Amino acid sequence: MNNASFVSHAELADLLRRLSEQAEVWVPTRQAMTPHRPMFRPFQAGMDLDFQPMPVTSAKGVLFPQGEELLKFRKEKSLSEATVTTLLWEDPAVFRPTIVFGCRPCDARGFLVFDRAFLQGSFVDPFYKARRDKNLVVSMVCPEPDAACFCGAVGSHPADTEGSDVQMIPVKEGYVLHGLTEKGQEFLKNVENTPSQAQQEEARQVWTSAQGSVDSGASLTDDAQHFFKRFADTAFWRFHTERCLSCGVCTYLCPTCYCFTLTDETNGVHGERLRSWDACMFHHFTQEASGHNPRPTKAERFRNRVGHKFSYFPEKHGRFACCGCGRCLRHCPVGMDIRAIVRALGESEEVHD
Ligand code: SF4
Ligand code: SF4
Repeated sequence: MNNASFVSHAELADLLRRLSEQAEVWVPTRQAMTPHRPMFRPFQAGMDLDFQPMPVTSAKGVLFPQGEELLKFRKEKSLSEATVTTLLWEDPAVFRPTIVFGCRPCDARGFLVFDRAFLQGSFVDPFYKARRDKNLVVSMVCPEPDAACFCGAVGSHPADTEGSDVQMIPVKEGYVLHGLTEKGQEFLKNVENTPSQAQQEEARQVWTSAQGSVDSGASLTDDAQHFFKRFADTAFWRFHTERCLSCGVCTYLCPTCYCFTLTDETNGVHGERLRSWDACMFHHFTQEASGHNPRPTKAERFRNRVGHKFSYFPEKHGRFACCGCGRCLRHCPVGMDIRAIVRALGESEEVHD
C-alpha cells in the first residue's frame, strides 16, 4: 500500500460535505432510537458520526434498499379489440453515485456475496448493477471488534481489505487512507494531506494489531462440511432452534442476506412493481399458492439458513455467505448463535431431546 492520504478529525466533516456534492455518502451515525450504536445513514452536516462501535445495521441497504420501486406501469385497453390490453412501463430510475464511508471490513466483504448472487449468475440484476457500478467502499480496520464478531472463523480478519476500494486506519489525530483499487486511488484525490512518517508508522501498528484482535476460534470450514450428514437429523435441528421466534431480525441485519419479494400495487390502470426484503425465517417465506409450505417449521427454516450460508452457497460460489459480523448473535432477542450451530454439526453423539 504505497499511496496514502490523511484526514484529521477536524477535517473529516468538511471532507464528507465535499464528497456529498458528488455522491450520496453513507456514514455510521448515532440516531435517537439507537443512542449506543450507530446506523448507516446518508451524511448530513451536524450528524453525530461514530466509527467505533459495530453499527447495528450493515450498509447493505445502500446497494439493496429495504424497499424500492422497480418500475411504474400502465394498462391500456385496445380501442379496436376489446380483449387486448397493452402493458406500458417506464425505464428504471437513474441512480446517483454512492460512497459507503467507514463500514467494517466484514460489511465490505458482504457486498462480494451480493455480487455473486446479483451479478454473476445467468441473470444480472439491473438495479443492483446500476448501483454497484457507481459505488465506492471505504472500510475501516477494527481496532476493537465487537464481542460477537467471528470474522476469523470465516476466512477473514479485522484488517481485511477484500471488497474495499479504500481502507481507512484510525490513528490518534485522524485517519490514514490507502487506495486499494483504481477507483479508490482516484477517490484519494479528494483528500489533500499526506500522512507524516509518524502517522504512517502508527497506522502500520494499528493495522497489525487489528489483524489479530478478534478471537474467533477455529475456522468453521470443517464443521460446515458435516451439514448434509445432519440434514435429516430432525432432533438436532429442533434442539438448536427451539428458542427462535421467527422474527427475522437476524436476516434483516445480516450484510449477506439478499432474499426479496416482489409485489405489484395497482390503482386503476396505473401501478408500480415494488421489491422489498424478505426473510427465510418468516413462516410464509416458502409458502406456495396452493397453501403447501415445504418448510413449515422453524427447525426447517433455520436448517435452510445454515445450509444456504455454510453449504449451498460455498459449493456454488466458493465462499461462505456469512462474513462473521456477529450481528445475528448480538441482536437476536433470544440469543441464537448460528456459529454455535455450525460448530455442533460436526459433533458426534449428542442427545437433543
Ligand atoms: S433474530 Fe433470533 S429469534 Fe429472530 S428469527 Fe433470527 S434467530 Fe430467530
Ligand atoms: S449470518 Fe450473522 S454473522 Fe454471518 S454475516 Fe449474517 S449477521 Fe453476520
